[in-house]
Amino acid sequence: MNESVGEKVAEVLSQQVISNISEAGAGVRPALSWDDPYQINADLHCHSTVSDGTLSPEELAARAAAAGVQVWSLTDHDEVGGLARAKAAAHAHGILFIPGVEISVTWAGKTLHIVGLNVKYENSVLEKSLEQVRSGRLERAKEMSRQLEKVGIDGVYEGALKYVGNPNLISRTHFARCLVERKICSDIRDVFARYLTPGKPGYVPHDWASLRESVEWILASDGIPVIAHPGRYDINELQMDELITQFKNLGGIGIEVVTGSHTIDQYTRYARRALVAGLKASRGSDFHGPEESRVNLGELPRLPDGCVPIWDNWAQLQPN
Ligand SMILES: [Zn+2]
Ligand SMILES: [Zn+2]
Repeated sequence: MNESVGEKVAEVLSQQVISNISEAGAGVRPALSWDDPYQINADLHCHSTVSDGTLSPEELAARAAAAGVQVWSLTDHDEVGGLARAKAAAHAHGILFIPGVEISVTWAGKTLHIVGLNVKYENSVLEKSLEQVRSGRLERAKEMSRQLEKVGIDGVYEGALKYVGNPNLISRTHFARCLVERKICSDIRDVFARYLTPGKPGYVPHDWASLRESVEWILASDGIPVIAHPGRYDINELQMDELITQFKNLGGIGIEVVTGSHTIDQYTRYARRALVAGLKASRGSDFHGPEESRVNLGELPRLPDGCVPIWDNWAQLQPN
């Protein structure tokens, strides 16, 4: 696609954000109709205090309802402990709830995220496997704190714990909030840039699940595997081809096209990749909290034309 066509698509998409919202009206949630899946306001990626979000599952459900979300998924990092609460709250607001998860994966030396949608979460393969994954986080956190002490920043582990809703899920984001509070950095992005990414003093490499494990756990729990925010990974085009091929061969189904992590240009790029690879397209804000996220729940453009929405056959779905 040449640049001017790309710009044109981007312009049309950016208009669709606005028209989508104004059609629904602020706080007005139209009845869920499956006649045109493109018009369904599906937000299939966000985080609660059960991982590194700042709102509880109940607060998120209320916020999703207020924003006009019709199909909603909570996808906490490596944790399914908030799903029962989110489901109850979503039902109280009349929203179709899709239980989800976002699994951290090490692939080609990088950390990637694989989302599982409509997963069985109680007594599932997934629940048991994630318990093991989480145990590595605590050790990593303590080592990060030791590394930061070496550059003169003391007690960050204890400081980060204040922000942790679930002690099994201490993450870099919690460390970042502590450094912002202490005014060592101006905001979360600044912390990651200066301290918590490869080559920086507080970065501790960690082996997460493999791509194969993540996809297999999701499939074994009757879920739908989706590559999260592909535009965020520091990998080249050839590696992206390889990732998508491996993911599909393992049984992967979808890829996020419209996400709070993508630029408008990336919506077009990953819509095309989804089409070429025969993957369904997903849509999700990756909302973490009102103070930290640019994109609110549900307030995203619709999927670009030609994509197959991952929810296109969910009228018959038996929610897990
Ligand atoms: Zn992610
Ligand atoms: Zn996320």
